[in-house]
Amino acid sequence: MSNATFTAPCLSTFCELDELGLVVTRQDVRRREAILECRRAEPDPWCRTCGAEAKLRDTVPRRLAHTPFGDRPTTLLIRVRRYACDHCGRTWREDMTSVAEPRGKISHGGVSWALRAVVRDHLTIARVAEHLRVSWHTANDAVLSEGQRLLVNDPARFEGVTTIGVDEHIWRHVRFKEKYVTVIIDLTPIRNGTGPSRLLDLVPGRSKDVFRQWLRGQSPSFRAGIDVIAMDGFTGFKTAAAEVVPDATAVMDPFHVVRLAGECVDTTRQRVQQQILGHRGRSGDPLYQARRTLLTGLDLLNARQFDRIDALFATDDHVEVEMAWNVYQKVIGAYREKNKKKAAKKMRRLIEAIGTAVPAALVEIAKLGRTLRRRAADVLAYFEHPGTSNGPTEAINGRLEHLRGSALGFRNLDHYRLRALLETGGFRPALHSGLR
Ligand SMILES: [Zn+2]
Repeated sequence: MSNATFTAPCLSTFCELDELGLVVTRQDVRRREAILECRRAEPDPWCRTCGAEAKLRDTVPRRLAHTPFGDRPTTLLIRVRRYACDHCGRTWREDMTSVAEPRGKISHGGVSWALRAVVRDHLTIARVAEHLRVSWHTANDAVLSEGQRLLVNDPARFEGVTTIGVDEHIWRHVRFKEKYVTVIIDLTPIRNGTGPSRLLDLVPGRSKDVFRQWLRGQSPSFRAGIDVIAMDGFTGFKTAAAEVVPDATAVMDPFHVVRLAGECVDTTRQRVQQQILGHRGRSGDPLYQARRTLLTGLDLLNARQFDRIDALFATDDHVEVEMAWNVYQKVIGAYREKNKKKAAKKMRRLIEAIGTAVPAALVEIAKLGRTLRRRAADVLAYFEHPGTSNGPTEAINGRLEHLRGSALGFRNLDHYRLRALLETGGFRPALHSGLR
């Protein structure tokens, strides 16, 4: 503050109204709200039809929600001048497009504030609406259209992307209409160690066609820049990628491989449980009790959990569960191995072992083995391109999940997509570095 330059106090400047070409004439600042009466700083009496100087006829009031003044919702009460041209008879209102959209209810300043509040501070639309004293829909429409214009439609957000992850999500639990969305994530910052991943796009549906269409819809330079795509084991994403970006390497996401191995443990446990006890797992059953401990990585087990696993495998009845558990731990062990050459070797050996000649009784392990053998190249590709996993994108998934939870306003997938992009599309730095 030692370098402060003092001038006379000015509400127009303080409320960023001079940027909008307005000047405050009167104020009514109360504890819970502020009303600022203002008018255009520069009168513009010139007739656009004949060029003559027109007479001021009167003014009409227009109310606009504006950037909150402190915590107070702030309304601009603008006295909009009306002119009448004596020369040609034309009458008009002065142009207010520098202040707000033609039929908008929020000033440009208020809209920018709302966008920052959602993108940077993760305020809910309900809170934003409250601060602006407008309806939820008014706030939502303003934030989404400004966010789309300023951030989502900016082609620069696709620049420099080399690594993407593709995954599918359920976006709502409704029987009719589209239930799935395909989520495309930029993993480049993780791979380069420059920051977190970010949501790149979200499209309805989950088939090969959906991903292919999306890839085709991008610019040729974007497609040429992609060299790694992380994906799961089943969907047609791989075929789509091979068709449209044939030079990109498909990586089967460790996140999915670990999940498959975990499912192998679960289904084996359930089958063995049924065979021994003739019923599904209940609270007293040892296999059921250990269901979470079984899915904990070896290096994370505490002494008590270790004993539980030991006791569980002391009986021959559980030998098949133990075998599935061993496979699961080996999968995790390979991904935890710091030396990527050694890691790849471990994984290759495991795939060879369970990809062939597994006794028929071990249905679940045999099935996992077939899947991993079929996708061996993609599974092993991970170790050549470490960091290419959708696993670190939990933050994004959590956000998407949270937004889906507040799905009230998202009957419309377009709105959900925009909102998800605004919150997880990595726009916070852009808003910090002075985009309005
Ligand atoms: Zn005129």
